[in-house]
Amino acid sequence: MEDCLFCKIIAGEIPSTKVYEDEYVFAFRDINPQTPVHVLVVPKEHVCCAAAVNGDNSVYVAKCFEAIAKIAKAEGLDNGFRVINNCGEDGGQTVMHLHFHLLGGVKLGDKMI
Ligand code: AMP
Ligand code: ZN
Repeated sequence: MEDCLFCKIIAGEIPSTKVYEDEYVFAFRDINPQTPVHVLVVPKEHVCCAAAVNGDNSVYVAKCFEAIAKIAKAEGLDNGFRVINNCGEDGGQTVMHLHFHLLGGVKLGDKMI
């Protein structure tokens, strides 16, 4: 999709620090990390947000979570990690291409917000 930051990163038009890629998924380090490990796991198909997931594209969500398990292992997050998805304006989503934040490398608090 034109003018989508993450589509441009997937296409290699904007540089990123890639940590994982397969047929369905592209994952790279967040430019503004909130934890020692902060990876964005992004479907290669442009889906705007969690609210747009449906039976036609949900395979990309499953593939993102398969990738998350692999990346967490590769990053040494054996003691656990957190996965966050922000959806829409009230959810605090700033890039309108579905993505999952994989956060770890520190013991995270018990508060969700
Ligand atoms: P969200 O607020 O859930 O939409 O998350 C968007 C994330 O993208 C934020 O954590 C940003 O720090 C991150 N981000 C924005 N631009 C880039 C970029 N060029 N490379 C890597 N991460 C980025
Ligand atoms: Zn996109």
